Amino acid sequence: MSANAANPLNLLGMSRQRLAEQFEQWGERGFRATQLVKWIHQRGVTDFSAMTDLSKVLRQRLATEATVRPPEIALERGSDDGTVKWVLRLADGNAIETVFIPEDDRGTLCVSSQVGCALDCTFCSTAQQGFNRNLTAAEIIGQIWLANQRLPVPEGRSRAVTNVVFMGMGEPLANFDALVEAIDLMLDDNAYGLSKRRVTVSTSGLVPALDRLGGVTDVALAVSLHAPNDALRDRLVPINRKYPIRELLQACRRYTRDGRHHHRVTFEYVLLAGINDQPEHARQLIDLLRDIPCKVNLIPFNPFPGAPFVRPSMNAVRAFERLLAEAGFVTIVRRTRGDDIDAACGQLIGQVADRSNRPARMIRLHAELPLRPGARA
Ligand code: SAH
Repeated sequence: MSANAANPLNLLGMSRQRLAEQFEQWGERGFRATQLVKWIHQRGVTDFSAMTDLSKVLRQRLATEATVRPPEIALERGSDDGTVKWVLRLADGNAIETVFIPEDDRGTLCVSSQVGCALDCTFCSTAQQGFNRNLTAAEIIGQIWLANQRLPVPEGRSRAVTNVVFMGMGEPLANFDALVEAIDLMLDDNAYGLSKRRVTVSTSGLVPALDRLGGVTDVALAVSLHAPNDALRDRLVPINRKYPIRELLQACRRYTRDGRHHHRVTFEYVLLAGINDQPEHARQLIDLLRDIPCKVNLIPFNPFPGAPFVRPSMNAVRAFERLLAEAGFVTIVRRTRGDDIDAACGQLIGQVADRSNRPARMIRLHAELPLRPGARA
């Protein structure tokens, strides 16, 4: 890999393994990678001169040839319910969104994996943006790096972010290499040290990439099913025409096999009034998932301007939930979080369309949000 002062190597997204390889090329010892990963990800330090346990020579080399550069915060908005959304500006001018969802026992960061999305699911506002490009591993890990810098740490925890879900903009399995490298850092004890159960990849169902993922990791898996038969799923999630439900469910069985039974697949199912929320749909879903260890996550549709769907009544949602629960499925209705700042599922659209958003109830420039004591900006 070549790097120079004009085009410094961004170390933020490099796994310990890749950093070690880089250091060996420079004639440095591989264990320096561990030190560097700790400085960057545990302590949030980007200034090489502050990394006092590295040799002076190495620090100087890093200062001239490398950098640690997260995306820039273009906007930070806090919701009435505690959710925080960031619009992040990338080096090429594109913008992505990241959402933090605090709960009593955890803090979940919803990260983006692409600028836009190419999959064209009809109920998702990100699809309307079209697709621009994949994020780099640095841009993916930069989201968790920034969130941990920005957020106060709750009592009894070492960091604000305890869980990561790839449920922001984009299809993570369509950005395979960067996804895997970012996951590597999330799981690395020298970086974020998250357990595999606390990192969830959500996919619309790219079957070959799902098999590949199963070959390299066994983080938690969520699958955007949204319909109990191919005719309907072809319309809602067009990638189904390429990888129909039967093939997708076979891939889910393979992913959870081989001693990974502690991982149930989570099936996400957006409820669209009059489209996929009828009792007959619940019954088809029950037949379909009967032999797969899974949970079902029902997501009442989150509207966006121009959306061709409507959210079902709470009664319809509860009736659907009851049918699944009675059939023995662990079923959760996802609470809508952050919809006052357009941060709910399916509402993430990046900077461009953000300009036409209704004003948030509360807009804070990032300097106004309390910084974690001792954190470096
Ligand atoms: N591309 C990945 C991750 C992105 S979205 C995937 O498809 O899984 C995370 C979840 O939000 C998905 O289940 C997605 O289908 C759902 N979603 C998208 N638009 C939505 C909307 N308008 N209302 C509710 N959920 C939505």
